[in-house]
Amino acid sequence: MDRAKVLANAKRIVVKIGSRVITSSKNELDSSLINALVKDIEALYRKKHQILIVTSGAIVAGLKDLKLGSRPTDLPLKQAASAVGQVKLMHSYVTAFKKYDIPVAQILLTQEDLHNGKRYLNAKNTLRRLLDKGVIPIINENDTVAVEEIKFGDNDTLSALVSLMMDVDLLTILTNTDGLYTDIPCDNKRAEFVPYVKKITPAIEKMAKAKGDGAGGMETKIKAAKMLTQSGIPVVIANGREKQILNKIISGKEIGTFFAAIEKKKK
Ligand code: GLU
Repeated sequence: MDRAKVLANAKRIVVKIGSRVITSSKNELDSSLINALVKDIEALYRKKHQILIVTSGAIVAGLKDLKLGSRPTDLPLKQAASAVGQVKLMHSYVTAFKKYDIPVAQILLTQEDLHNGKRYLNAKNTLRRLLDKGVIPIINENDTVAVEEIKFGDNDTLSALVSLMMDVDLLTILTNTDGLYTDIPCDNKRAEFVPYVKKITPAIEKMAKAKGDGAGGMETKIKAAKMLTQSGIPVVIANGREKQILNKIISGKEIGTFFAAIEKKKK
């Protein structure tokens, strides 16, 4: 199936939003960026797509109250910042979605929850019910009790695990670059953009090792993409600052890097 057709048929979608997509250069949540993304999501919601958001940004949102100028390196301090910032992060989303009368829910998960049979089922059942009721779940890592994403991933792995659990049709990872490049564009003028990945080969994984963006960089994003494409779920990595990015992706516009599913989804 080609890219446009796959995307046009994507009914249930996980939208993963990286910290840098919704925060300003002053290390603060930027409500205009959140509002723009919410408007984009609202248009899909009206077209009957089921959307689940996995969002970072709690740590950055908590810096100011803890009188921190930048992301701390001390892990418990990061967790403290996240606990303070999570409330602000949710408040921003609740306020933005309220304008459209769309109900949202907060879900805090750990990777461990999703590997434990009973908790996995509980989370899945709750998320299913929320979607049935037209509520948009807004998921983040429960940073107080788990530190996997703070350390390595900026929620990339969590978004992949949620995508698998909810058997979604597409994961979109919104970040602060246009997608995958053969190398870091600002360091290497010959770096080329990669619009389509048929299969994640060692050569693709090597490109992702070039550091440059966000807490997780490309490496954890490609790992997430590999996990999903092998399970029949396509992935798009795209720039979350681009206007109406999600609607552009779903309408088949060649934007971002598309990772084709290499296996058919087991129904
Ligand atoms: N849970 C973290 C946050 O919301 C995401 C991971 C990270 O930014 O390191 O800030």
